[in-house]
Amino acid sequence: ESFEDMCLATAIMKDIAFHEYRSPTPIQAQAMPVALSGRDLLGCAETGSGKTAAFALPMIQHCLAQSPIVRGDGPIGLVLAPTRELAQQIHKEVRAFSRSADNFRSAIVVGGVSMSVQKDELRAGVQIVVATPGRLIDHLEQCHTSLYRVSYVVLDEADRMLDMGFEPQIRAVLKGLNKRHQTLLFSATMPEEIEALAQEYLDKPVRVKV
Ligand code: AMP
Repeated sequence: ESFEDMCLATAIMKDIAFHEYRSPTPIQAQAMPVALSGRDLLGCAETGSGKTAAFALPMIQHCLAQSPIVRGDGPIGLVLAPTRELAQQIHKEVRAFSRSADNFRSAIVVGGVSMSVQKDELRAGVQIVVATPGRLIDHLEQCHTSLYRVSYVVLDEADRMLDMGFEPQIRAVLKGLNKRHQTLLFSATMPEEIEALAQEYLDKPVRVKV
């Protein structure tokens, strides 16, 4: 399947062309139609496979289909990642592929940098937040944003997040979401703990492995 076959918004297609992504990688070809259909997904893929665009392009498409943001709006799309570096990489890709979309805002929420800049970005209203779990919880506790609008959530490198001890934070975030949301879980490995998490929080997920 080509990007043209996926019925992506014109603005997204423009950014794909700008980045000279000519055809989808195997994980994109398999995961994007599932994500775009609204189903939950359990993806076994490593970094380097193109998995970021596999969840980010459908996430941007999902956000574009909702009403425009106003000041104070919490995110529609939420990505949790284990490290600041990975979150930055994901956010860069989100920005790159939402550049042509009108009035599209995203924020990155990671530890080790000032809360106040992140707070201002969140308060301005955003479509997408890319976060590490601990820092997101800090912002939620201080009411800098809320998750009531989230309807597309991604757990990236879930095995690493569990290794790093983020399971309580991940569970707290997922438990706080509205009933109607789509969940995508990506992991390089599928140990029992990941299967258990998927069992609990994913609804009849489509399994994709590359
Ligand atoms: P990721 O696995 O998401 O970290 O992506 C690995 C690298 O592949 C990144 O540098 C992406 O920009 C690049 N990439 C992702 N999808 C495509 C594609 N369809 N065509 C060409 N490059 C891609």
